[in-house]
Amino acid sequence: MEGEMAFFDAAEVMKELRETFASGKTKSYEWRVSQLKALIKLAEYHEGEIVEALRSDLSKPELESFLHEISLMKTSCQLALTELRSWMAPEKVKTSMTTFPSSAEIVPEALGVVLVISAWNYPFLLSLDPVIGAIAAGNAVVLKPSEIAPATSSVLAKLLGQYMDSSAVKVIEGAVPETTALLEQKWDKIFYTGNGKVGRIILAAAAKHLTPVVLELGGKSPVVVDSNTNLKVAVRRIIAGKWGCNNGQACVSPDYVITTKDFASELIDMMTSELEVMYGKDPLESNDLSRIVNLNHFNRLTKLLDDPSVSGKIVHGGQRDVSNLKIAPTLLLDVPEDSLIMNEEIFGPLLPIITVNKVEDSINVIKSKEKPLAAYLFTNNKKLKEEFITSVSAGGLLINDTTMHLAVHTLPFGGVGESGMGSYHGKFSFDAFSHKKAVLHRSLAGDFTARYPPYTPRKQRL
Ligand code: NAD
Repeated sequence: MEGEMAFFDAAEVMKELRETFASGKTKSYEWRVSQLKALIKLAEYHEGEIVEALRSDLSKPELESFLHEISLMKTSCQLALTELRSWMAPEKVKTSMTTFPSSAEIVPEALGVVLVISAWNYPFLLSLDPVIGAIAAGNAVVLKPSEIAPATSSVLAKLLGQYMDSSAVKVIEGAVPETTALLEQKWDKIFYTGNGKVGRIILAAAAKHLTPVVLELGGKSPVVVDSNTNLKVAVRRIIAGKWGCNNGQACVSPDYVITTKDFASELIDMMTSELEVMYGKDPLESNDLSRIVNLNHFNRLTKLLDDPSVSGKIVHGGQRDVSNLKIAPTLLLDVPEDSLIMNEEIFGPLLPIITVNKVEDSINVIKSKEKPLAAYLFTNNKKLKEEFITSVSAGGLLINDTTMHLAVHTLPFGGVGESGMGSYHGKFSFDAFSHKKAVLHRSLAGDFTARYPPYTPRKQRL
């Protein structure tokens, strides 16, 4: 690392973890189970401390901390414990005539020593969910939590130090210098959650060592609202996925809405009244909304609102209070296509609503932008659903709800194009940290000699 001193010796950390991995200890079923059980214990015994850290980092409401971070993490762990034997079992596969007689299997193999770099918005879940996959697959792992959620980072370092096997699972806290020092090492996999700009730095660092990566990035996730819907349910589910997820600071939060011109005012009226039911007349006073994580992000979001090209477009909300970093749920109608807000991921409580003549036109609006992490559609129209599924490319699609697809462990969670590469959750997490080793068993009987030289004319005719 040039210029700056890392506060730890990354090469020394790597050396210790390599030795642990080489000893074979992390590959045993018993070790994996013991570590997964330790993670569950850690979450159960220290729930209050974790909730408090999330409150300090984000004013995250307790129910959101519990449901979206602690509970999801425990469910992941429990699933890995229940399924581990079957995930670890070699999979028998068919062979071909060319190798007759033979049998074949795919043997999942731990990759080695892996690095998990996580983000600040769900700092507990996004740190431990990939770690669960890494451990289940039998790897040694370093976790680098986000410095932007310092209280959670420090709780993770303390609790993992207390509960986990420290010769194989380590937490390195820090920001760019520490991450840069870690990235210089040769890892067997890097799993990164965060923005695409840093994603490119990760990918470049990984390329030097030919290290495979998973990049869990973000993007502008659209919501299409057709007039043929149950508007109240649709609106509630949009609110839950936007402001009910860390006040819009979630990778799968709705980024903008597309609806038809003649339906927009009905949609805005319903949004406004439901927002008031959920967050009261003065949402800045609500304890059920997270704050903006820090002043940099607060300023970034107010800049989007203060952009002259969107002035006069706010149809609801817009209040802010810099003293406690709060921004109210805010709706904007028909902001220009070239405004700042339509050209970067919002990642906060602002929601532009774009109108089109026909609902089918929304598909072209989505296709004109980079591939998002999620795309949502509310409709009862079967044909529209089919067209949406066929035409829209995104990490994941969800019809008639928002964000809930990530709680379905049988679905892979990850992006495509600008929203990332690779996926995890459930068995996909195990696979993300495993090599699928191809093993072919041949018999020494019945040797077919045509493949051996000399390649006589007779053999060539075969
Ligand atoms: P962040 O600022 O916490 O950064 C993420 C990680 O990158 C941190 O650990 C940080 O220390 C590290 N980092 C920052 N700069 C670096 C550099 N120059 N070199 C090396 N490492 C560096 O989080 P963020 O990027 O603000 O997170 C928000 C973004 O993440 C959004 O785009 C969001 O959509 C995306 N996100 C995606 C998912 C997902 O699962 N796909 C989940 C959460 C967030």
